Amino acid sequence: MDSVYLQSLTETYGSPLYVYDADRICAQYARILKAFENVEQLRINYAVKANSNLSILGLFHKLQAGIDTVSIQEVQLGLKVGFAPKDIIFTPNGVSLNEIEQVAETGVQINIDNLSILEQFGQRYPHIPVCLRINPHIMAGGNHKISVGHIDSKFGISIHQLPHIKRVVENTGMIINGIHTHTGSDILDIDVFLAATEIVFNTAKEFKQLEFIDLGSGFKVPYKTGDIETNIEELGQKLSTRFNRFCKEYGRTLTLMFEPGKFLVSEAGYFLAAVNVVKQTTSTVFAGIDSGFNHFIRPMMYNAYHHIHNLSNPGGKERYYSVVGYICETDTFASNRRIAEIREGDILCFNNAGAYCFSMTSNYNARYRPAEVLLYQGTAQLIRKRETLDDLLHNQIQVDLGA
Ligand SMILES: *Cc1c(COP(=O)(O)O)cnc(C)c1O
Repeated sequence: MDSVYLQSLTETYGSPLYVYDADRICAQYARILKAFENVEQLRINYAVKANSNLSILGLFHKLQAGIDTVSIQEVQLGLKVGFAPKDIIFTPNGVSLNEIEQVAETGVQINIDNLSILEQFGQRYPHIPVCLRINPHIMAGGNHKISVGHIDSKFGISIHQLPHIKRVVENTGMIINGIHTHTGSDILDIDVFLAATEIVFNTAKEFKQLEFIDLGSGFKVPYKTGDIETNIEELGQKLSTRFNRFCKEYGRTLTLMFEPGKFLVSEAGYFLAAVNVVKQTTSTVFAGIDSGFNHFIRPMMYNAYHHIHNLSNPGGKERYYSVVGYICETDTFASNRRIAEIREGDILCFNNAGAYCFSMTSNYNARYRPAEVLLYQGTAQLIRKRETLDDLLHNQIQVDLGA
C-alpha cells in the first residue's frame, strides 16, 4: 500500500483511522476457492467477529460467501446486509437456550457445542436440523489463549462423549445435518489439521443425515517477515482428495465448509495513528500515539506483533522505539522496535489491522472509537464515522441525586 496515499487519508478522515483494502480481501477469498476447486460443493463462511462492519459484510455478500456468527447480534447484522438465513451459521459458545431459539426462528443454521443445550433443543425442536460442534482434542499452535481444541478447552463437545451424543439424538429424534470443528487460530502444520479431520470424518460416519462438514478455521497469516503462513494451496490439494474420498464412502456429496476470519481480512487492514509526543528517557525513546488498547488491543492482549512503519518519514534513519498509547494504563504497542526516525506529528501505520482490531475496540478513557475507510475499486469511502460526544452519552442516564 502506497505510504503517501495512506497518509493522505488521515488528512481527509482524521486519525486514528482504520483503512481496509477490498482487493486484498477478494484476493484471499479467491485463493481459498482456487485451493479447493476440486471439491464439488464448497462454502466459505466469513467469521463476522473478525470485522463486523456492514460494508465488509456487504463485500462478502457480493462475493457470494456465507457468514459464521457467534451472537444473535451478528446474525442480525448479516440479515440486514442481505444474507439469506440459509447462508448463515450460528456457532456460539455458552449462550442461552433462549438466544439459540431466537436464532433458530430466523431459519439460520444452528451449531450446538454442549450436551445440555443439545438435549433441551432436541426435545423442543426435533424437526430443526442442527450441526454438532465437536472437540477432537488436537492442539493447534502453542499459544494456549488461542488454541481451542485441547483437552480442557471450553469449546465443542468432546469426541469422548460420542456415545452420549448418540443417545441424545436417538431419544429426541433430532436431525444432525452437520459436523463442525474449529481447532484454534494457528495451523502451522497441515498434518496436524489433517489428523483432526480424520477424527471429524470418523465422527461424521455415525450420523446418516449429514449435509455438510465444517472444518472451522485456524488459517494463519504472516504478521512479520519470516512468519509461517498456512499453506492453503497444499492444504486444499490434500484435503480435497481426502474429503472427496470420504463423500464416496459416506454415499452422498456433502458440502465442505470453512469459516476463516483472519485469513480473509487481517492483511487487508491498516491502522493509522498520529504521534503526539516523542519522549526520551534514560533507557529508551517513547513514541506516544493518539490511541491505546481502546482502539487496538491485540499487542497487549495476545502479545501480538504488528509491523509498524512511519508513513511520514519512510526514508528516515532507523532507530529503536517503544510505541505506546495515550491512555492511563500500560498500553505498549511495541518495545524496542526499529522504525524510521519518528518526529512529533508523524503518522504511523500498523499492518495486519483488518481482523480483531476494530471489532475489539472500546470507549475506555471515554475516548471515541476511530473511523473506518474502505478502498473499493480505486476510491476511498468512509464506512464508519468517528464517534462523537453524543455516542458516549447516548445510553447514559444521569439520575437526580438531590441537593
Ligand atoms: C473466531 C472463529 C473463527 C475464525 O477464526 P480465525 O482465526 O479468525 O480464522 C472461526 N470459527 C469459529 C467458531 C470462531 O469462533
